[in-house]
Amino acid sequence: MIANFLFQTEHPQINFKTFFEIARDFRKGGLTPDNFEEVIRLTAKLPPINTRKASDYKIFEHLGLKDISEEDFPIIIREMLRRGQEQSKKCWHPEAASATCKVDKSGQILVSAAHSIQNNGVLSKIAKDGHVTTFSREEVGFKGKNVGKKLASIFWGFCNFHDAMFSPIEITNYTGTPEQNFLYAYRAFVMISHKKIEASHFANFGSQSDIDIEENRKHFDRAILENDYGAIKTHVIELPLYYPIAVSSGFYLDFDFEGNSIPHSENRMENIYITVFPDNGKTYCLLSYLKEDENLYQELAGQLQSRNNFKSDLTVLLAAHVENIYFEPIYFETFIACQSESILRVFQQAQFDVQKLDSQGNHIGNLSLTPPDYLKNTQKLNFFGY
Ligand SMILES: [Zn+2]
Repeated sequence: MIANFLFQTEHPQINFKTFFEIARDFRKGGLTPDNFEEVIRLTAKLPPINTRKASDYKIFEHLGLKDISEEDFPIIIREMLRRGQEQSKKCWHPEAASATCKVDKSGQILVSAAHSIQNNGVLSKIAKDGHVTTFSREEVGFKGKNVGKKLASIFWGFCNFHDAMFSPIEITNYTGTPEQNFLYAYRAFVMISHKKIEASHFANFGSQSDIDIEENRKHFDRAILENDYGAIKTHVIELPLYYPIAVSSGFYLDFDFEGNSIPHSENRMENIYITVFPDNGKTYCLLSYLKEDENLYQELAGQLQSRNNFKSDLTVLLAAHVENIYFEPIYFETFIACQSESILRVFQQAQFDVQKLDSQGNHIGNLSLTPPDYLKNTQKLNFFGY
């Protein structure tokens, strides 16, 4: 019998070594500090996954490995998430260093939980009894899940001192200054990048993922150091009604609203950043990108304006791409919960990727199979319920 967890070595996007380490530390599946090195050594001897047979796993037979139970799997996964978070804590500010960051007595940078969405200004407004609703990732489909607003949207990406750079969007009301628009896009960039680095602890995204983050970061860092807020171009869409929805996220688009493909470069993934929040009885949607990427996205932004179909167009962008999204709980129950099956369809269509492997069976990236017309909103989704 082959211990079930060994098959993880066949999924190029899973960093199986991290999983095995935790199983070892928890003494699961027969993994112990005594046989761990041998198990890792033997995994390297397995044939490439595209030619592998069940009998190739016989080399593990003498090690006494056994199945990891269904109850133990989630325990290991939770620990993987925790370790990923712990090991990725850092201050992203371009001047971050032990001399400029907030440090503890031993000189270690003290990273605190930063909110990617304003806690007091926005989350408080849309919370009910201290809770907001987001989409659950623990089940298939887009069911709602209530989370405490203190925990919603946090990431460990700034020291206390540098987190203060966001005070123009944390403390001051939104008036649409270039600095405010820049800060919203920058915070969305750091949040999505930080989450990706946390996840790369246990998942392989291919080497391009790190390069994308580093190359985008250079543009933001330069702009921060030179106070060049014009480095970000932002389109502000004001919906005339108050919707209790908050979003901070970023993604790239392969197609615009007319189904034209958006040609990305090889050296950096050009992202678009999106921020949604209610204020002054209205709802603001900020669509931002680096000035360098204007040639890729200004057409799409122009389409959005001229189509004048904001509720549908914004909804499909959010449903297809966004993870960091929060709703007021009753609003979610009333307007969003009934759409969960359609949201799943739109999301799956947008994220339809196949893995690219090299001749050795190593994961080198993903190939997108997203249909060109997926922004047409054929599912008639609508997050803006009235
Ligand atoms: Zn710092």
